[in-house]
Amino acid sequence: ANTKLPLNRKSKDELYQLSETFNHLMERIEISMKKQRQFISDASHEFKTSLTIIEGYSSLIRRWGFENIDLRMEALNAVHTESKRMKHITYQLLELAELDHEPKLTLSLFDLVTLCKENIQLLQPLSDKEFILIPTESSIMMEADRPQIKQVLFIIMDNAMKYMNHHTRIFLSQTDSNHCIRIVDDGIGIPAEELPFVFERFYRVDRSRSRQTGGSGLGLAIAKCIVNLHHGTIQITSDRHNGTEVIVTIPKLKTSNPF
Ligand code: ADP
Repeated sequence: ANTKLPLNRKSKDELYQLSETFNHLMERIEISMKKQRQFISDASHEFKTSLTIIEGYSSLIRRWGFENIDLRMEALNAVHTESKRMKHITYQLLELAELDHEPKLTLSLFDLVTLCKENIQLLQPLSDKEFILIPTESSIMMEADRPQIKQVLFIIMDNAMKYMNHHTRIFLSQTDSNHCIRIVDDGIGIPAEELPFVFERFYRVDRSRSRQTGGSGLGLAIAKCIVNLHHGTIQITSDRHNGTEVIVTIPKLKTSNPF
């Protein structure tokens, strides 16, 4: 339906201002509804794909699984992988819903260098490529929501692990006013025209490749929500075939400026 009020563009009276504001508001509502519809459609598509695979393979087990052990194993593995994938996406969606509607920050004082080493310990055994930590100081104390900051780092490092060729360097530093985390990989990069969209929910540069690597397209959207909650910024730059750089800046907490 066309919700726009007809306007006499030359008129600058109060009614004109009012209708301008109304039209602007309606445009914003329409954009937000369009985004919501897209989000529901993307989420449904994700689940539909996994459910179709689970349905297909479970039918195979029912028909031939008792005679053919290889087929049974293949089908069970596929069912297992897709169930795990659906569980992961469900957790991510619940987390986004919480970040959207009831964002909570539990602040504590922690060492950013230790936190980063913990993530390396989690991820390094899963990869034959290397994470190299380059802190400017042996310890960098930070006051923020520790599990959330750990998750932001984990999301970026997990992406780097999927796409890097040889190594990913992690630079940790601080100034008087900010903490800065810079994660630089030497991987396949992201084409310039795709960069503006990577923080959107369910956006993946290469859907089929990213499905194989287990990506849902929700990681960077979650990271951005968390960084915003800390009043920080997250920027991504990339050179196709020459790697990707993600910079997270979190302002230091001032007692006069609580979160
Ligand atoms: P996913 O769960 O698919 O990794 P993200 O939101 O974390 O979702 O990332 C969105 C998309 O951005 C990914 O699917 C991938 O195509 C691209 N991407 C993110 N980080 C990198 C990187 N370091 N190198 C290359 N592509 C990346």
